[in-house]
Amino acid sequence: MTAGIEIKGWCPGARRPMPSGDGLIVRVRPHGGALSVAALRELAAAARRFGNGEIDLTRRANLQIRGVSPETLAPLWDLMTSLGVLDDSAELEAIRNIVINPLAGLDPAEISDMRPVAAALEAQLASDDALQALPAKFGFALDGGGRLPLTDLAADIRLVACGSADGRHIAVGLTGPNGVEWLGSTTIAVAAAVAAKLARFVLQHSPTRRSATLPANASAIVAAELGLDASEAIASGAASPRLGLIPLAADTKAVGLGIPFGRIGSEILEQLTGLLASLDVSEVRLSPWRALYVAAKTGSAARLVADAARLGLIVDDADPLMRIDACSGVGCCTSTMLATREHARVLAAAMISTGFAGTLHVSGCAKGCARSASAEVVLVGEGGHYNIVCNGTVKSETFGVIDPADLAAVSDGLFKSREKAHV
Ligand code: SF4
Repeated sequence: MTAGIEIKGWCPGARRPMPSGDGLIVRVRPHGGALSVAALRELAAAARRFGNGEIDLTRRANLQIRGVSPETLAPLWDLMTSLGVLDDSAELEAIRNIVINPLAGLDPAEISDMRPVAAALEAQLASDDALQALPAKFGFALDGGGRLPLTDLAADIRLVACGSADGRHIAVGLTGPNGVEWLGSTTIAVAAAVAAKLARFVLQHSPTRRSATLPANASAIVAAELGLDASEAIASGAASPRLGLIPLAADTKAVGLGIPFGRIGSEILEQLTGLLASLDVSEVRLSPWRALYVAAKTGSAARLVADAARLGLIVDDADPLMRIDACSGVGCCTSTMLATREHARVLAAAMISTGFAGTLHVSGCAKGCARSASAEVVLVGEGGHYNIVCNGTVKSETFGVIDPADLAAVSDGLFKSREKAHV
């Protein structure tokens, strides 16, 4: 251990990295979910120099550099400081869990650009010591609407832009035990302050300091305390293609680039940043669904899609890899001997050949790090084999067993017969 570095075994951060089977995991939390292409290139090079060259995209729109050692942590911190992505304390970075739309400020279909609200909320979190007692999993979703809404993103507190450009307001939601409860609405100008007050209320009234365990009458109490305007029904954002070309303006497109299993090697990421720079792209946006976004002139965007596909990135929503969650598996985690992602790629081929359109979760063990939500098919590692779950999670009842050596032979049958039972 060097430089007074404190390492604890939960909730990866940068100031408080998490040990894993391949070294320390250091989380990088870009402000507003955006990084310059130059900064991303430096982080890619740093992952190779100070870690094992592997980088994860997280479900909170962050990056994780893997395989860092106690000796290389300090120089990595120096680089992160120079890029403006290292918080002053482990407590502050742990609660800076604010996700906004990846096309904020770029998307003509959005109702409101939530970047200023995110910046104001970050400032509230940094300036209020009480809020630093929030648990590390406490999250804020700031959804300005548009082509890439945050409807699916789990969060304790939701701020959702509503109305037209002339009459915009922010609906305030709190995720209780039965889902999101809409408390009322407020103005964009005070939305961040309202979110901070709501977070303080959760801290005071929830036994776990998470919104899901607030008492049943909490919503009515806090809505009255906050003085919100009357609530209204919030329509779910329409699902639209997330990958490949996304129209923005007549001569501009966004490009969504999916990263298989949310893991990218530094070499590929450096090639990607070189490609972006050659196309005059200056900024990259992160998202909570394992995809990167950029905006480019239409001709450059089309070229980027083709070149990114050649790098192994996903540019089509129909690619089954986007419907698979697989944890990092053997080599990265000591809790399994299973090559989960290799196995997932075998299963992806079977998803195509059988026309299986559902979701798949391949987990090295019953902890289920890669996915907490239910999936149509779940393989749960135990020793050298997988137990099979249908329509459930890693905790659900299993109905059969697969030996990884037989995976290619039985995977078609797995997807065809998943409703019945035994493989
Ligand atoms: S699910 Fe199990 S094997 Fe996979 S990363 Fe988590 S602890 Fe490791």
